[in-house]
Amino acid sequence: MRVAICGGGVIGACVAYYLSLRQVQVTVLESTGVACAASGKSGGFLALDWCDGTPVGPLARRSFALHATLAASLDRDWGYRRLDTIAAVASLRRGLGHLSRFAAPDWLAEESAVHARLGTVETTAQIDPATFTRAMMDAAVAHGADLRIATVTGLAFADDGAASGVAVGDETIAADAVVLAMGPWSAVAAQWLPLPPIYGLKGHSLVFDHDAQAAPPAVFAEFEDADGTIHSPEIFPRPDGTTYVCGLSSQTALPADPADVAPDPGATERLQAMTARIAPTLGHANVLSAQACFRPIVADGLPLIGHVPGVPGAFVATGHSVWGMLNAPATGEAMAELIVDGAASTVDIAAFDPARLAAVSN
Ligand SMILES: Cc1cc2nc3c(=O)[nH]c(=O)nc-3n(C[C@H](O)[C@H](O)[C@H](O)COP(=O)(O)OP(=O)(O)OC[C@H]3O[C@@H](n4cnc5c(N)ncnc54)[C@H](O)[C@@H]3O)c2cc1C
Repeated sequence: MRVAICGGGVIGACVAYYLSLRQVQVTVLESTGVACAASGKSGGFLALDWCDGTPVGPLARRSFALHATLAASLDRDWGYRRLDTIAAVASLRRGLGHLSRFAAPDWLAEESAVHARLGTVETTAQIDPATFTRAMMDAAVAHGADLRIATVTGLAFADDGAASGVAVGDETIAADAVVLAMGPWSAVAAQWLPLPPIYGLKGHSLVFDHDAQAAPPAVFAEFEDADGTIHSPEIFPRPDGTTYVCGLSSQTALPADPADVAPDPGATERLQAMTARIAPTLGHANVLSAQACFRPIVADGLPLIGHVPGVPGAFVATGHSVWGMLNAPATGEAMAELIVDGAASTVDIAAFDPARLAAVSN
């Protein structure tokens, strides 16, 4: 069986990995570079139970377990570790330190208050997202997958309407099944297939040269600006001696070329200034990367995982929003089951059926 996967983000990489374990002949088409988009610039934060009570809960629980299994079984280090997670508040308008209910890491400002424990080493973890994505792709290639840096420009169809391959310019790569995993750029495929609208929501991030030392917690902060606006930066110290901070979403349009994604003017500077108020030594540390990326979303906030309705051989796996790094392994595993066995068995993906949403009308 030949499967073509469009997109070399974390979803495409994990689908490729789990298919490659099933002796499927996999070709991945990635336009720009593996992990060049959100999958290389996200927080890499993982939570066991934060999706409980939603249709994503079982997918997240399965994936949280798979992350631990992958870290223990593959011979690569992508910074996987369990860690505690706390909630902190800070304000430009008032000191809040006296409201602290829990011990704060020494790099948080005295005026910041730690008011909740959100996770423990039992329930929260982290990875370096770019290293993880590349490791999954490398493992797929080691099992025989073919990775090509090439932009998908269309699909090929058999006489009966089934998907029969992908077009890369003038070349057609024949396949028995095609998987769309181009993150927010999967929206382009609505020209070729009956897919619902897919959007990208932009977020900014900074990687600081700041070593938070042993056993740091992840911090979900709320920050009150001088004008009363509340921001929600997230701070993830990493085992490689860096600390990642993200925040400041924006509605900026998705550029057609993933290589053209850049921060909004002034956004990363504002994020750095905010960080310096919450955690002074961190905010004044050297900035190694100032970047932006788009998370893929659909109207109801749930991922699209499954058959493209009415087109045999066409599959989609995208729309993972803020939990794509977490949910990639279970998504890849379920997609491999769906394509090879005809149904996902490890996790119920019925709630993610693309047919639940109306397709874009062309
Ligand atoms: C600021 C921020 C922080 C985040 N933090 C977390 C977190 O802590 N934990 C978590 O679980 N999730 C997090 N996320 C969400 C997560 O990053 C995404 O859900 C996930 O990366 C989406 O992966 P993807 O593979 O679907 O898409 P992408 O990473 O966007 O990959 C799509 C790929 O398709 C390629 N492509 C596009 N067009 C074409 C084409 N025509 N032909 C071939 N290839 C093409 C692109 O180059 C790209 O490599 C965060 C997101 C953001 C924005």
